[in-house]
Amino acid sequence: MPVLLPVLVHTPAHSSVAGVLHYRHSGDLPAGTLVRVPLGRRETMGVVWEADAAGALEAQAMDAGRVRDIAGVLDGLAPMDAGWRRLVAFSARYYQRSAGEVALAALPPQLRTLDNLQLARRLKRHAAAASRAPADGAPAGPATMPELTAEQSATLAAIDAAPGPFLLFGATGSGKTEVYLRSVQRALDADPAAQALVMVPEINLTPQLEERFRARFAPRYGDAAVVSMHSGMTPPQRLASWLAAHTGRARIVLGTRMAVFASMPGLRLLVVDEEHDPSYKQQEGARYSARDLAVWRGRDAGAKVVLGSATPSLESWHQSRPPEGGDPGGRYLRLHMPQRVGAGRLPRVRLADMALLPRHVTLAPQLLAAIAERIGRGEQSLVLLNRRGYAPVLACADCGWKSECPHCSAYRVFHKSDRTLRCHHCGFAERVPRACPACGNPDIGTLGRGTERLEEQLAELLQGTPRPDGRPVRVARIDADTTRQRGTLESQLAEVHAGEVDVLVGTQMVAKGHDFRRITLVAAVNPDGALFSSDFRAPERLFSLLMQAAGRAGRDAALGGASEMWVQTAHAAHPLFAALRRHDYPAFAADQLAQRAGAGMPPSSFLALVRADARTQETAQAFLAAARQAAAEAGLDAADAVACYSPVPLGVQRVADVERAQMLLESPSRARLQRFLSGWQPLLHAVRARPEHKAVLRWLVDVDPMTI
Ligand code: ADP
Ligand code: ZN
Ligand code: ZN
Repeated sequence: MPVLLPVLVHTPAHSSVAGVLHYRHSGDLPAGTLVRVPLGRRETMGVVWEADAAGALEAQAMDAGRVRDIAGVLDGLAPMDAGWRRLVAFSARYYQRSAGEVALAALPPQLRTLDNLQLARRLKRHAAAASRAPADGAPAGPATMPELTAEQSATLAAIDAAPGPFLLFGATGSGKTEVYLRSVQRALDADPAAQALVMVPEINLTPQLEERFRARFAPRYGDAAVVSMHSGMTPPQRLASWLAAHTGRARIVLGTRMAVFASMPGLRLLVVDEEHDPSYKQQEGARYSARDLAVWRGRDAGAKVVLGSATPSLESWHQSRPPEGGDPGGRYLRLHMPQRVGAGRLPRVRLADMALLPRHVTLAPQLLAAIAERIGRGEQSLVLLNRRGYAPVLACADCGWKSECPHCSAYRVFHKSDRTLRCHHCGFAERVPRACPACGNPDIGTLGRGTERLEEQLAELLQGTPRPDGRPVRVARIDADTTRQRGTLESQLAEVHAGEVDVLVGTQMVAKGHDFRRITLVAAVNPDGALFSSDFRAPERLFSLLMQAAGRAGRDAALGGASEMWVQTAHAAHPLFAALRRHDYPAFAADQLAQRAGAGMPPSSFLALVRADARTQETAQAFLAAARQAAAEAGLDAADAVACYSPVPLGVQRVADVERAQMLLESPSRARLQRFLSGWQPLLHAVRARPEHKAVLRWLVDVDPMTI
């Protein structure tokens, strides 16, 4: 007997269809079954969904003649399990998107293009490869494992003893990764179907991690047991990893934020390394936090969750506070590993007080001397500057012309290597003009400095410094410009590891995670901007970046004794630097949390943003104001104690000729903010549909935004 089935499909964002459509099929199919269905004129993939009461009524009311048939079922694949479906439903609800969008974005794109025959062939091939693997490897025996430090043992015992979630607060080099490896091993040993998910913030960090996990687990569980999942993989690679996780053959999934949606029927453990990292927050579509979803998924699945960082997010730090006085404490259990493994001590932090130097000096002489000394000893230095290009602005001193982008409210950056002026917001690029485009003055100059210029400057200043082997000093640069091509980052890093580079200039890209053995000096040459930024998270990000960077120095115990972290600043007395000098994250966090509480910022409050884009700022703001009005008329904010602020332009107001505005919502309670948002969602759609707001190009809701 034919039945009507609810199927989740990916409809365009904010369309009137919420994502569940009804299709006819010759018989019942379990929820989670992947199907192909017609949608408009095309055929698309869908997921059979749970029938809720409202959906069933709607289906009954539908004219049976208009219901279309399911075109096909993806045979040979087990249905998506209930845990995965709950994760999708929760994410959609919490981040204010359609479940169809979230679900379909979480499935590998190539799955949509395969017919059943092709899919069957893939599955067979993977099964064959997996069964072959253990026989290829060494006989299943334990890989060599280091003896645990006392801190690691205590941490593992604590993870065994409590349900979690855990915040592993461990210094850089304290051996957190070893704790992850052992936790994974315990989970997998306990249950032959168990799976573990380990997340890292950056694609660049996955190869290193994969190597460590493979070395440890391939001998035991076979080569096919460890897979990666990130956006840098080809569609066939992504499909292969996804199938391995879905079928349970992969015991360990390593990946970036997208991996939080992996189908893992045996999920027993989730690890989020560098949990403070902003890359865990997706910045388009459903703007989810993979860290927060990992905690949710762990609790839902009864799996353990370990968040790790040397500089936890203030949210996680607050959430893991121990009970005190009348405060019952946070929901997470905080575990502390303060010691570095081995003798490699944390570097000494030195401040170069730029306020004492003439204004035109951009590199302190004492820092240059320290770098030269390292070169003389055959050691390496890492110099950080978070700004690509040669100079952020090109300017004419005669008429005041500046290299503004014609399409954005931002300056175009001067890139010397290819002689372009390039907008970092919209990508608009032009050849550098020979003379001022406004007045013809041939003598246009640069303002400020980026990594290209820093590289040039250091090469010049350090030119005569003797290297132990007599060869000339080599300064190199790694940033998004030098690593655009696939594989270039790896080859550049290899040169650094081989000791060919004496001084490495880079953006924050190189400050994270990489294990540089021979670097004994790290310098941040211009971090002051973040001290007084309007972004309330800027100090937190700066502190963690500097601590991470410091963690790059002195990782080799033999060289580590005299390693240094230098900071050039005109605000040497700032409390952030005082805490940094002592490597004292708790002091920094306490100070920041007090400030956040005073300002009503997270974690003392919960935020959401509504953004609107339009050709004019007025149009964008008018939509937001009307949306606010609609909420007030419906009594939403009053009922839920949600403060809804006035619409304002974004910091960079115009990008690619589009004006951007936003409106901030704040509530002391996450649940209330959620209730407000779900009540508001239909009103937002209704306001958007009014003719006077036709000119709005797009709008979105960002829950728990990273910046405001
Ligand atoms: P983190 O992730 O905390 O920065 P890692 O786990 O990378 O630190 O450990 C730092 C270094 O110490 C690595 O080279 C690792 O192999 C080594 N290491 C970790 N635990 C031990 C141990 N128990 N005994 C010896 N070496 C260890
Ligand atoms: Zn001019
Ligand atoms: Zn631009």
